[in-house]
Parts: sequence; C-alpha cells; structure tokens
Amino acid sequence: MNKLTATRNLDDVITRVEGARLKISEHHIVKIIGISKYSTSKEIEELYNVGQRAFGENKVQDLKTKVEELEELPLEWHFVGTLQKNKINNLIDLNPSLIQSIDSLELAQELDKKLQAKNKKLSILLQVNSAYEDTKSGVMPEVAVEIYKQILDTCPNLRVKGIMSIGAHVEDEKVIRESFKTTKKIYDELVPLGAKYCSMGMSSDYELAIACGSNMIRVGSTLFKD
Ligand SMILES: *Cc1c(COP(=O)(O)O)cnc(C)c1O
Repeated sequence: MNKLTATRNLDDVITRVEGARLKISEHHIVKIIGISKYSTSKEIEELYNVGQRAFGENKVQDLKTKVEELEELPLEWHFVGTLQKNKINNLIDLNPSLIQSIDSLELAQELDKKLQAKNKKLSILLQVNSAYEDTKSGVMPEVAVEIYKQILDTCPNLRVKGIMSIGAHVEDEKVIRESFKTTKKIYDELVPLGAKYCSMGMSSDYELAIACGSNMIRVGSTLFKD
C-alpha cells in the first residue's frame, strides 16, 4: 500500500460512512477504527499520513510490536481480540485507549484486579455474541445487560463504555441486520448507565451496521487493501 492507495482507501471509507451516518442524523458521529492485524507498521504509517489516527489489533504481542515501532506517532490503540488471562498484564502496560473484547464477567474482574494492583484504570467494551455463533466470543444477548451492570458494580478500575459485536457471518443481509438490531437494542438499554459506544460493523457490513445505529466501526481489509 502506497500513499495513493492509502488515500483512496480511506477516502472511500469516509465517503461511505458519511453517506450512511447522514441518513440517520448529521449529529450521528461514527468513529472509524483501522484494524491493522494483517498489516505492517509501514502501512499503518501510510494511513496515519492521510489522516487516520485510531487503530486496533487482536493479539497482545502484535499490539506491543506496533505500539513500539510507531511510538513517535500520536496514535490511539484499540484491542479487539480474545484476551488470555496470562496476557492481561502485558496489555495493561501498553495503555490501550479501549479494550473492546471483554467477553465475560470473570475476565472483567480479572482485568480489574490487575489494574487495582497497578493503580490504573482502563476503558472497556463488553462483547456481545449477537449472532449466536459458536465460533464467536461474547456474552449472550439475554444476559448482556445484567452482566454489564455487574461489571459496573464490581470493577471500579474499569471505565465501561459500551458494547462491541461482530455481525452474523452469513450472506443473507436480513440475518446480519437482525444481529445488529439485537446489539443496538442492548446498547439503547445501556445508554442510561453511561454507555457511549455501540461498536459494530466491519469491512463487509459497516454501512448496514451504521444504518442499524453503530457509532464505531472496525475496518481492516478494506482500509489496508492494495
Ligand atoms: C479482524 C477484525 C475486524 C476487521 O475485519 P475486516 O473484515 O478485515 O474489516 C473487526 N473486528 C474484529 C474483532 C476483528 O477481529
């Protein structure tokens, strides 16, 4: 990816996001996270140079490598992958802006405990398995609000900012839309409790996700393509 393709890719995403969000409201702001898990630090820098600031990784070691290689740039880093307990301390030390993939009360409490020991706080999202797929992590939609409340009540060192979900992995747009609607409904219930982000939508479905109310999209392949 060179400067020309980085510009084209980012402009394309921004144009589509604008189209989708303005259909909801001019006040509906959508944050774009560039998921860089299959990309190099050099490519991240190309996108930074044309204006992208927020990036996400799904492995703690890859995040560490990229945070270190790009430490001169004022980037915002998100973690979106499965978090193993033995990697929690490493992740905390990288100071991510947002951990989007907290997928159980137990994991939230484990992270909170380690944060207390370090006298630090971090922002998180609760991941919800709105597509009901065995291959996906996340709490079930039926218990999401309850678990969210339990995290708020028991984890003083977590700033709980909302929910994240991955759309159904199918061709049928109706089924994908249903999974997004499920996530949005949960998010709406959590707004009175301080939820700010409804993170849903990836390269193949972010316009649909925005139409369903997403205010944070995570785009990898379409942003980093050659
Ligand atoms: C990889 C990944 C993305 C980006 O996927 P693309 O289809 O490449 O846009 C978004 N969210 C999560 C959690 C991911 O792991």
